[in-house]
Amino acid sequence: MAKGFDIITIFPEIISSYCSQSILGKANAKALIDVKPYNLRDFTTDKHKTVDDYPYGGGSGMVMKIEPLQRAIEAVKSDGKTRRTILMSPQGRRFDQSVAEELAADSRRLLMICGRYEGIDDRIRSFIDEEVSIGDYVLTGGELASLVIIDSVSRLLPGVLGDDESSKEESFSWGILDYPHYTRPPEFMGMKVPEVLLSGNHKEIEAWRRAEAIKRTLALRPELLDRAGLSKEDRKILDGLCPDESFDIQRSKTEE
Ligand code: SAM
Repeated sequence: MAKGFDIITIFPEIISSYCSQSILGKANAKALIDVKPYNLRDFTTDKHKTVDDYPYGGGSGMVMKIEPLQRAIEAVKSDGKTRRTILMSPQGRRFDQSVAEELAADSRRLLMICGRYEGIDDRIRSFIDEEVSIGDYVLTGGELASLVIIDSVSRLLPGVLGDDESSKEESFSWGILDYPHYTRPPEFMGMKVPEVLLSGNHKEIEAWRRAEAIKRTLALRPELLDRAGLSKEDRKILDGLCPDESFDIQRSKTEE
């Protein structure tokens, strides 16, 4: 069954445009995902299709009105399908690969609400299951955030990527960063592709990739090693890279 995404927004074209291209477009065509943007303005009752109003208490900016949002949520849910209702918000739980995996494994449709302006009337909280943030920065609207979720969740679904293996060996899926990738030519401006990758020896290639992924993680995101499920061999690699005492704490943690 297709993974369903319902998005309430005042810019439905942003969602449909992105989701009709490339891998998501193909996944849509193959009915592996079902992305349905809803225009919030369709749930207004005045002739100007008003979705915002001045904030109580004064201050700058406009606030999204609760009535059209509540009507939109009710209308989307009227088909009786089970849904997980998520408010896009910089104040929410931080989105990462493990949340993407959790959402991909959830059989419910995801109903995502995109704010604009200064945000949404706080009474929206009565109509949602959770708030999700894609990072500690403020966007002008929730559309990009919902697309980030649709994109990262969709590529985890069986059949969406051409080669199902390709999402299994990426950054974060192992708890650490990805290994370096190369393609032809074997030499470019004096820079050579590592010999082992041309060797055809799959065992050595696998060992090299794992070591490079650990090296890269240590250099760029050392805190990930704390949480990664490192094997005995991985720890040996790490010992070789980082023999000083400062890494003992991380090593002892991974051994627990
Ligand atoms: N005044 C709000 C605050 O400071 O928390 C920010 C409002 S923001 C300009 C407008 C909308 O963009 C939000 O309602 C939310 O839907 C979306 N948004 C902004 N940053 C986001 C983030 N980091 N993650 C998810 N959604 C975000």
